[in-house]
Amino acid sequence: MIRSIYIKNILNYFIVIIVSLILSFLITSLFFQNQIIKIRETEVINQGKGMINLYENLGDKGFDEYLKSISSLPYEVYLYDQNGLVSKTPNVPKSREFSKKTIRDVIAGDVYRKEVEPLLIGLPFETKNGRYALFIKPNLTEQFSQIRNILLTALFIVLFIGTSLILTTTRFLVKPLVRITHATKELARGNFQIRLNVKNKDEIGQLAQSFNFMAEELDKTEQMRKDFIANVSHELQSPLTAIRGMAIALKDGAVETVEEKHYFELIEQESERLSSLTKQLLNLSILEANKSPFNPKLYLLDRQLRNQLVTMQSLWMEKRLDIDFDIPKLEVYADESLMNQVWTNLYSNAIKYNREDGKISIRGHEQGHHVEIIIRNTGYGIPQKDIPYIFERFYRVEKAHTRTTESYGLGLAVVKRIIDLHNGKIFVNSIEGEETTFRIILGK
Ligand code: ATP
Ligand code: MG
Repeated sequence: MIRSIYIKNILNYFIVIIVSLILSFLITSLFFQNQIIKIRETEVINQGKGMINLYENLGDKGFDEYLKSISSLPYEVYLYDQNGLVSKTPNVPKSREFSKKTIRDVIAGDVYRKEVEPLLIGLPFETKNGRYALFIKPNLTEQFSQIRNILLTALFIVLFIGTSLILTTTRFLVKPLVRITHATKELARGNFQIRLNVKNKDEIGQLAQSFNFMAEELDKTEQMRKDFIANVSHELQSPLTAIRGMAIALKDGAVETVEEKHYFELIEQESERLSSLTKQLLNLSILEANKSPFNPKLYLLDRQLRNQLVTMQSLWMEKRLDIDFDIPKLEVYADESLMNQVWTNLYSNAIKYNREDGKISIRGHEQGHHVEIIIRNTGYGIPQKDIPYIFERFYRVEKAHTRTTESYGLGLAVVKRIIDLHNGKIFVNSIEGEETTFRIILGK
């Protein structure tokens, strides 16, 4: 591919340069030809006048001698009178390019000019012996060929210099492309650390920048994938180890009969934990793969928020939480069942990470074309350093503390994904040891 760009570029150059050279050669020669003809025309007329003078002074014989003496010069000279050819330069045809009528007209007093190559001038004059016509035809071929040679030399020099320059510059142009191709292959082989150091500010530079950005993103994704697998294995491993340990103890009869029931209950709890973890994971992966059915419609958000709260009543009653619910009638355009998951996760966090006799306040209002919901709960709060990460999968603050029966660090990842799907926004704010606030903005 690179080789072909290199060759294509050079071929392009050759086509452009050769066509331009041929055209400029033709145009310039034509231009100079016309210029030369114009200059020579006046010259020839003056020379003709000189010859007429000479003829008047020298007479026929002397003029013949004169014409012989200039026979080596690039001129053809013809002198006519009423009776025909009087004199001409030796070694030229008897008559050329001009008809009897032309000769007659010039003898009668017309000046004849043929201003294209070959240039021909006919001058009338009169002596006491009668009327004459003097034709002069300068031979410009030599002059033209000299000009053509000069032009050709100049054009070949241009071709040579241009070719050397284009060969070098194309190499420079192609070099970063070769490096980008090489880096792309490395990336495809799984080397996500590869970066390009291309300093060009042009399109190639932009391509290199995009490549670096892509490599960074892939690197991040790869890291996330590794972390995810490590986390999933870890999360699956601990309940499985617990179940296995308890099953072995039961099988070996190492458990007293009164304890047996408790062991079976623990096994049941751990299996439930496993089951709910895999369900959450499946849910998240469906959301992340954009495969989840998305059916937004207009519905009453305040009612959904209130119903959800009622559903979870036993949980917040258990902690004797004070609920302050104050939301006016709010319509929203969203997927009701996905939004149910959002409120369940946020409420469950607000309850789980609250203190006994704590407080939860749920507020909402319209703001232009948007709806804003604010859920605030008292409790441990989230340390500032953890805030940027809490929407990541498996991220839990104070791991030991939250390691209750059902806490995987997946809830907020699900929430964020659903809010993103709705083109909404979610913000979190926390005062450590005091309270945490989640602010959700949705389209109406
Ligand atoms: P899961 O929701 O999967 O059962 P989780 O609640 O630990 O597990 P997330 O809901 O993603 O996971 O929350 C991530 C972490 O953020 C929690 O472990 C908790 O430390 C902190 N957090 C979330 N919500 C709150 C809140 N309302 N108040 C205080 N801390 C919170
Ligand atoms: Mg949660």
